[in-house]
Amino acid sequence: MEVCPIRKIKIVEMSVDQTSNAIPASSEVVRVGVLGFGGLGQAAARVLAPKREMVWVAAADRLGYAYNPQGLNPDASISAYNQRGSIGYIEAGGVLSDRSIAELVERATAVDAYFLALPNLPNTFMADIARQFIALGWRGVLVDALKRTSAVEQLLEIQTQLQAAGITYLTGCGATPGLLTAAAVLAAQSYAEIHSVNITFGVGIANWEAYRATIREDIAHMPGYDVDKAQQMSDAEVEALLDKTNGILKLENMEHADDIVLELAGIVDRDRVSVGGIVDTRNPKKPLSTNVQVTGRTFEGKTSTHTFTLGDETSMAANVCGPAFGYLKAGVNLHRRDVFGLLTVADVMPQFVR
Ligand code: NAD
Repeated sequence: MEVCPIRKIKIVEMSVDQTSNAIPASSEVVRVGVLGFGGLGQAAARVLAPKREMVWVAAADRLGYAYNPQGLNPDASISAYNQRGSIGYIEAGGVLSDRSIAELVERATAVDAYFLALPNLPNTFMADIARQFIALGWRGVLVDALKRTSAVEQLLEIQTQLQAAGITYLTGCGATPGLLTAAAVLAAQSYAEIHSVNITFGVGIANWEAYRATIREDIAHMPGYDVDKAQQMSDAEVEALLDKTNGILKLENMEHADDIVLELAGIVDRDRVSVGGIVDTRNPKKPLSTNVQVTGRTFEGKTSTHTFTLGDETSMAANVCGPAFGYLKAGVNLHRRDVFGLLTVADVMPQFVR
């Protein structure tokens, strides 16, 4: 298939209707696709809508896909997905397909970069998607918000193939791993030795159905559960579990890729990184403030802790999609400089998308 090199980002200083998704005339913007159109995929479409440097042109869900090089309409897309079950039902550019990702990637030749807002169920799914991009001969930027250590390890196994394929793949670019891991890298700079990195997250969502994969993947960390078991649970079984816990999931010592990402970056051994948190699936208010604490010893011999706390008003979607597109922009600039292969959230700074 035809390869699609990254377009140069040229920002045109002109007045643009901030609510419109139209591409400013005579500018070249980054054309973005979103794979997965559930909670995070839909939030991604909303985050991109007012941006001038990026335009959302493609999306796929399990049952279909949509592609419009002029830009997709978030409202029409979200209502097609929620009312009819797939973005493939939208009038302008919608297609129903049982091989939606492969068909979209083949047809959408103008896409520079994809945000992978897909469930990692089974735990090999994201690495399989990366292999699919390689097999299709696609070149460009891929960004994920992967969570499990073992899932990132699978990507490490194919880093040479990603590089040879001309793909710049940034992994772990959500909130945790993601924003908090990157903050830990910055915080670590005050110390001569890092003792521990502790991440504690609070997530509040109004209903679990808006983020099914996120909740199933969280359940997989609970005692007595694993990824396979969580994937096989019916919606009714998830609801029954949440009824027992009053909608609350309490998670401790999770297998979270913040550990491998910080170890690969040379910050701290993975056994000194811990991640846990509380998810309230029945209340959008955060049950606790999300924070990362980085403890270490300074060159003078003092032990101290830096704490970076996210604002309670910021949602999970804001803290995942914002960083994901910041890293996507950084990835596009790296791709333009022929930097290919696998990078983690700790390897590069995100850029701010205007
Ligand atoms: P979701 O369940 O709301 O949506 C998943 C979407 O993927 C759906 O649109 C579904 O149709 C689509 N899909 C599933 N299988 C597909 C296939 N084979 N082909 C095409 N589309 C397919 O998911 P979500 O709650 O938005 O979560 C997405 C991912 O983001 C999860 O893996 C979750 O763990 C991750 N996440 C990461 C962070 C972080 O901080 N790193 C935070 C939250 C969520």
